[in-house]
Amino acid sequence: MGCRVQRPHIGFCPFCEQGHLGIAGCGFCHTLVAICDECELVWSNVRGVAMNSTTRSSGTYPHCPHCETADARWYWLSPEQIQQAGLQDCIKPLDH
Ligand SMILES: [Zn+2]
Ligand SMILES: [Zn+2]
Repeated sequence: MGCRVQRPHIGFCPFCEQGHLGIAGCGFCHTLVAICDECELVWSNVRGVAMNSTTRSSGTYPHCPHCETADARWYWLSPEQIQQAGLQDCIKPLDH
């Protein structure tokens, strides 16, 4: 997804082991997913992949696994939105 900025993440990507998994929402159906900022794999089970690296991915960016739009216009969730979604316990400390 281009330039690397520090955003809340739930850990390293279990597939490429390079990227971080951020939490994003679909611009159409607002389903929350985890997206790798390196290889662009998508997990619809955010808590699953945060807790268990063998959780299977659901597809690849920019396709939405829920509403199946081909370009979901994902937006990264802010820390406040992550808290509202009840996923703050999945967030790992930012590395510097
Ligand atoms: Zn990855
Ligand atoms: Zn969607």
